[in-house]
Amino acid sequence: MTEIEFLGTGTSHGIPVIACHCPVCSSADPRDKRWRSSILIKRGCTSVVIDTGYEFRLQALRASIDSLDGVLYTHAHSDHLMGLDDLRVFSGHDRFSIYSTEPVLKTIEAVFPYAFRTWQYKGVPSLRPVTIEERRPFKVGEIEFVPIPVMHGMMRIVGYRFGKAAYITDVSDILYDENKEVLSGLDTLIIGALRSRPHWSHFSFDQAVEAADRIGAENVYFTHINHETSHNEIEQRYSGRAKPGYDTLKLEVRDE
Ligand SMILES: [Zn+2]
Ligand SMILES: [Zn+2]
Ligand SMILES: [Zn+2]
Repeated sequence: MTEIEFLGTGTSHGIPVIACHCPVCSSADPRDKRWRSSILIKRGCTSVVIDTGYEFRLQALRASIDSLDGVLYTHAHSDHLMGLDDLRVFSGHDRFSIYSTEPVLKTIEAVFPYAFRTWQYKGVPSLRPVTIEERRPFKVGEIEFVPIPVMHGMMRIVGYRFGKAAYITDVSDILYDENKEVLSGLDTLIIGALRSRPHWSHFSFDQAVEAADRIGAENVYFTHINHETSHNEIEQRYSGRAKPGYDTLKLEVRDE
């Protein structure tokens, strides 16, 4: 079995949004507190995180992450990236591996050049960029991942399949025709769903459900949610078909 923990389920602002006093930002329901989107995946001795947003340090402490075998990046938007510096605790004698497509790694190296230099100032993160190819499986420890290319507005980014589960956030088009095979037979789909209204670079809740139906995924969880709809409201509206994720939610998924 593979264990998934939602480290964060909020959109780029997080919830509450700074200076916002709307009902969701003021909600007493702990599930309405959403840090920036990220998940932890564990199988046997292997632990992998997808994306490191601003709260990575807080998320790692809350989830008691004591070791990490690698971080996969979906894209280089700051809400998925800016916690990278705290990976330095995981780079000891060996460089710590981060995985993504070439353009994403190039942006990461431009934002954090000091983490990749041959000569490094003592104490900085020491990272090894590992280039992955769309739909070509690769292994991190015991877990095999398959990068799934999707559109995020005008940008081509990646989600990841592992066993019978997939994590696809910041998506506005799942490119179903080219991804048909890699998306087939999913038990669990974690999918970005921003809000009720449409958005140019993110699925709405309805669009995320439509995509999940097309894929035929059994269990569907929303992530990357904004402050327009409360957890409770999403839960009621989509009960039976999809569930809103929430920070600290844990799931178990079959490997194959
Ligand atoms: Zn995002
Ligand atoms: Zn708000
Ligand atoms: Zn994004």
